[in-house]
Amino acid sequence: MIHLELSEEIIESHRIYLRKKLPDMISDFKKTWKKQSYTTAHKKFCDWLMGQVNLLGESNYKKSIFLQKPEQFQDTYNYIKNYHPKIIELINAPTKKKKDGTKEKSYSEYMQDALGYKKFCDKTPSPKAGHRYMVGEYKGDADEWCAYAYIMSTGLKVCPYCNRSYITSYYSEKNKVRPDLDHFFPKSIYPFFSMSIYNLVPSCKVCNSSFKGQKDFSFDSYINPYEEAMKDELMKFNYNVSSLTGILGLEEEKLELTIDYDKENEDAKRLKNNNEVFNIELLYQYHRDTVCELLRRQYIFNEEYRGTVLKEYEDLFADEKEMDELLFGLAKDGDTKNTLLGKLRKDIYEEFNSSVGRDVSDRRSYE
Ligand SMILES: [Zn+2]
Repeated sequence: MIHLELSEEIIESHRIYLRKKLPDMISDFKKTWKKQSYTTAHKKFCDWLMGQVNLLGESNYKKSIFLQKPEQFQDTYNYIKNYHPKIIELINAPTKKKKDGTKEKSYSEYMQDALGYKKFCDKTPSPKAGHRYMVGEYKGDADEWCAYAYIMSTGLKVCPYCNRSYITSYYSEKNKVRPDLDHFFPKSIYPFFSMSIYNLVPSCKVCNSSFKGQKDFSFDSYINPYEEAMKDELMKFNYNVSSLTGILGLEEEKLELTIDYDKENEDAKRLKNNNEVFNIELLYQYHRDTVCELLRRQYIFNEEYRGTVLKEYEDLFADEKEMDELLFGLAKDGDTKNTLLGKLRKDIYEEFNSSVGRDVSDRRSYE
C-alpha cells in the first residue's frame, strides 16, 4: 500500500459542497424517519449530525466528522457508541424481508442517502463542449463537486492498495469512466463516515470489490493510506535467489519474492494485515518477471558501464539519479504512487544497491 495525502483544495471543495447540500437532506431525514422507541434517539442523532455540518462553517472545520483525519475516526466512533447507543443498535439491526422477497431499506442506507453519498457518486461534472478531462486536469468548483471531481483532483493514476493496477479516470461529453471509491470503513457499518473525505479511497475493482468488500477494517488492526503513520518504509519487497543464473534474472521460477516488514513497528503489523486482505504477497508472484528484468539490467548496467553512459550522454541527464530512473524504469522523482509497480521497482533497486545486495550479487561467489 502507498501513503496518500489530500490537498487543501480538495478539503475546501468538499467543505463548501457539504455545507451547502447537507442541511436540507439531514433535516428531511430527521422529520421523515420514524420508528416507535427509536424516534427520539434518531432526532437527537440528526441534531448532532447537523452540528457537524455547522462546524464546517467555523474556523475549526477540520474537526468535523466530514473532514477529520483518519486518526480521529476511532474517537468519533466511540463518542457515537457512548452518546448515541441506539443509533449503533439501529445500524446493526437485521433488515426485514418484504413480501416480494427483497429487503427493506436499512437505517444505514437511509443515513447514507441523507448524507448524500449516492448523489455524490451519481453526479457527473458538465464539461465544456468539445472538452475532455483527464486525471489532474479537472478543477471543479463547489457546484461541480462529485466523485469524479474528487478522484481527478487527487491526481492518482494507480491503485494505492496494490500499486499494480491503473485506475482510470476520464470524462467527456461522450464517455466517462472512473475507478471505485472504497469506503475504508464500510459504509454499511459506519454510515456516518460515508461522506468523510479521508474514508473515501480511490481504488481498483480487484482490491475494492473482489478482496475487501464489506470487511470491517477495525480501527486498531488496519491502516488507512491517508494516516500519517502509513510510511512506505514500513515494508520492503525483497527476493531470494540461490544460483548464478538466478542472480542474472534467468530463472524466474527459482526466484522467491518476499515482503519484509519492520518488525519493531506496530504500524507495520497493521500494514501487514491490510496486505493480507489484498493478497499482495501472492499477487506479486506474478511480477517475478519484473524482478528478473531488474536483475538483468543491474548486471548489464553495472557501475562502471553506468559511469560511461553518464559521461557519454551528460547533456541527457541532470544527474545519476535521473539516469537510473530511465535505465531501471523507476518512478520519476520517487513518485511511486503513480508508477505501476513503483514500490516493487524502488525496493529491488535499493536492495541491489545496498551493501547486502552487492554481496549477494557478487557473482563470483556462485562461480
Ligand atoms: Zn488495487
